[in-house]
Parts: sequence; C-alpha cells; structure tokens
Amino acid sequence: MPKLLVIDDSPFIYKSVSKALKDSEFEIVGHARNGLEGLKLIEEQHPDIVTLDVTMPVMDGIETAKHIFEKNKNFKVLMLSAMGDETLLNTAKEIGIKHFIQKPFKDEVLLKKLRLLTLL
Ligand SMILES: [Mg+2]
Repeated sequence: MPKLLVIDDSPFIYKSVSKALKDSEFEIVGHARNGLEGLKLIEEQHPDIVTLDVTMPVMDGIETAKHIFEKNKNFKVLMLSAMGDETLLNTAKEIGIKHFIQKPFKDEVLLKKLRLLTLL
C-alpha cells in the first residue's frame, strides 16, 4: 500500500484528498498543516509520496520541497496549487517539482496522478 502524507494548511483539502482516496490502494498516514510539520511527519511516517500545498504559514511549499529534495532528490512530490499561486509556480519548477494539479481537483484526476507518480 503506498503511503501518502498531505501537507496543506486547509482542512478542506485534507478532507477532499481523503475522500478521493477512500477505497483506493493509498493509505493516508497524516496531515501536516505547514511545511515544518510536514518535514517532521516525513521523518516519522516515511510516506512514499506527499501532496504539497504552495501557500502555507510557517514554511511554504517551495521551502518544504527544497528540504525534501536535499535529503532525497527523487522523493515523490505532487504539488497542489491554487489560484493565486502562479508567481510561485515557476520557482517550484526551478527547484525540481515536476508534478502539479490545480485545486479544486476532481477525485479521479488526483487518483490518476498519484498512481502515475507511484509507478515512476
Ligand atoms: Mg494553503
């Protein structure tokens, strides 16, 4: 079972991801509300993949991804971007994030993307 960690300050997004992955092969191992919490939960839970928000308090998605890739440049990160994150998206690409979906997302779009990523 691939383990997934959700890093997003929005409880609504955590609920949406949980709902989308209900009855799927993915196991959600936690919800971090900012990047710092996310890094801690990665150490504790060893997820195979994370969904990563862009705009968050304490530590944003860009900074979080930098730390993740410093430890493991092949770590699987799916960035969930919202309207208004556009200016940060180029930076995200520059630091090596290759997979994105837009919020709000359709359940099947998220599932398909996560499946694709776990196969890479
Ligand atoms: Mg956010």
